[in-house]
Amino acid sequence: MKMIADIFRARNQYERPAPFDNSGDGFYLKIGAVFQSREGTLTHEFDVVVVGAGGAGLYCALEAGQKAKTAVISKLYPVRSHTGTAQGGIGAALGNVEEDRPEWHAFDTVKGGDYLADQKPASLLASEAVQAVYHLENLGLPFNRTADGRIDQRRFGGHTRNFGEAPVRRACYAADRTGHMILQTLFQQCIKQDVEFFDEFHLVDVFIDENRCRGLAAIELSTGELHVFRAKAVLLATGGFGRMFRITSNAYASTGDGPAVLARRGLPLEDMEFFQFHPTGIRGLGILITEAVRGEGGVLRNRNGERFMEKYAPTLLDLAPRDMISRAILTEIAEGRGVKGDGSVDDYVLLDASRLGKDVIAAKLPEISDFCRTYLGLDPAAQPIPVQPTAHYAMGGIPTDDRGRVFGAAKGTVVDGLYAAGECACVSVHGANRLGTNSLVDLVVFGRRAGIDIGEYVRHADLPALPGDAADSAAGLIARLREKSGGPPPETLREKMRDLMMQKVGIYRKERDMAEAVRAIAELRGQYRDIGLLDKSREYNTSLLEILELGNLLDLAYITAACSLRRRESRGAHAREDFPERDDANWLRHSLARLTGDAVEIGDKPVDVSIWPPKPRKY
Ligand SMILES: Cc1cc2nc3c(=O)[nH]c(=O)nc-3n(C[C@H](O)[C@H](O)[C@H](O)COP(=O)(O)OP(=O)(O)OC[C@H]3O[C@@H](n4cnc5c(N)ncnc54)[C@H](O)[C@@H]3O)c2cc1C
Repeated sequence: MKMIADIFRARNQYERPAPFDNSGDGFYLKIGAVFQSREGTLTHEFDVVVVGAGGAGLYCALEAGQKAKTAVISKLYPVRSHTGTAQGGIGAALGNVEEDRPEWHAFDTVKGGDYLADQKPASLLASEAVQAVYHLENLGLPFNRTADGRIDQRRFGGHTRNFGEAPVRRACYAADRTGHMILQTLFQQCIKQDVEFFDEFHLVDVFIDENRCRGLAAIELSTGELHVFRAKAVLLATGGFGRMFRITSNAYASTGDGPAVLARRGLPLEDMEFFQFHPTGIRGLGILITEAVRGEGGVLRNRNGERFMEKYAPTLLDLAPRDMISRAILTEIAEGRGVKGDGSVDDYVLLDASRLGKDVIAAKLPEISDFCRTYLGLDPAAQPIPVQPTAHYAMGGIPTDDRGRVFGAAKGTVVDGLYAAGECACVSVHGANRLGTNSLVDLVVFGRRAGIDIGEYVRHADLPALPGDAADSAAGLIARLREKSGGPPPETLREKMRDLMMQKVGIYRKERDMAEAVRAIAELRGQYRDIGLLDKSREYNTSLLEILELGNLLDLAYITAACSLRRRESRGAHAREDFPERDDANWLRHSLARLTGDAVEIGDKPVDVSIWPPKPRKY
């Protein structure tokens, strides 16, 4: 491991900065520039630094890299990013297997989001999805094909024809490995584009001064050294934060580092109360069984064998939006029709995929088949799959416009040179509940738009000056952890947080529970400050990494609980037992939450409902 670090440094060290060539066509020399300060901190200079190598980060880097010297830093090796786990598909109204239109897709997105999605960006999402999918195809993505050679499409929850009439085939897919294929395709293209990768670098801080982003600090995991990246533009694409919940489909790395760093820098986060639970996680484990199983014809059944979605969503049945199905499952369980039916937390329902037949499962859902064999020891073509809802997707995050520019202190003001895209961002196109297949669309549409905007922006922007003490805050945080020993065990705090969020800020919520969660998480944040690092080693110190990630999760859990407590209505994924109805008169507004020390200050932002006036949401 040490050897890899040495090779890496030998490649980069002491290269003198290449002069920027701003003349003519806007192309710059693409040679990494690295300096070493007297204290030993390595400083790199780039036009663009992208944090995150999932679909959003790579798409942005691919676009920006055509115009500017671009680096991607990622705490994981790029193709291990969470996008690689996306299974079922990417939505686009190609109309390859039946009639479809982008405006139907946009309407479904808005209705699926319970009218909290901003409608112009949602329309942009749907219309540019078509172009983005064909772009991916041209880049070499191996989509499944129809008999006549076009990209095949299947059904997915909440996607309909003619404004809600019936399910439509809109999800383009590569078996149940769509995200894996997107990631591989984009990574290869970035390499071809000479984008420079800093793998296993962990973002610790972003430098923002006088409303201008000036770069960032990241720790190199293999050496424990802190690096400074100076850049004209920074894009955060650090993914979701499902690890704040006990049962989740999210990988260990989904800890919300980007939004948490910005929150601590005083920037607001939008709509944090909306966290999606996917209805079909493997019982007890949370590992996802894609909605594509139901898109291909699988159905949910309760302990009596009844297809219970007939009661809850008579038109779309098992393809209703995720928030509705997750609540339906909990209702079945609460009323004694879950498979165990005794009210304990691991009650579940059954997902019957046997009606698809062995051949369809083998051809279109091979990954799911493997999961069932590995984790449950069953064959989904022969036996039903035990499932329960699993925390899956953050609708909220860093507020951006439709070019990825991050909104800062004042309403409507963007922070110069700071961008965000992907799950960590909130454009907002998913509103209170995201439709399946729309995250991958979000990554490619808005990752691409941000990359194009950045490419233009850096042509005219100067490399901002960096105050001498820019990295002090990040260095101080790490030094404090290294100096201290003892304190509360981080894993105890983490487990408490995950249980609190699951039990008190989960699918169904009520005032007393959420108030208790806010109080208890505040206490955990207090205890967190006393944590010391037992393992003092520098190279690959995973304890340090886990502590940094825990701090990020605690901050975001705190904001999520506080925002949930404040919103006194039910909308999309935010379902309150004490306020069961949607209340447009008082709550048709986005929340903007700001962390100020131990307090969360929450304000509002209007929702764009300029195309479709809100209506009751029936399926
Ligand atoms: C099991 C599963 C199946 C899914 N299936 C679908 C689907 O079929 N269709 C769909 O539309 N959506 C699906 N989703 C959702 C979708 O996959 C994700 O929302 C999306 O991939 C997130 O992409 P991203 O680029 O924003 O972030 P990610 O792919 O999560 O990438 C985050 C990147 O940020 C980096 N990073 C994070 N923190 C730091 C840090 N501190 N320093 C440096 N780097 C950092 C990571 O290394 C990583 O490279 C699924 C999700 C899951 C969990």
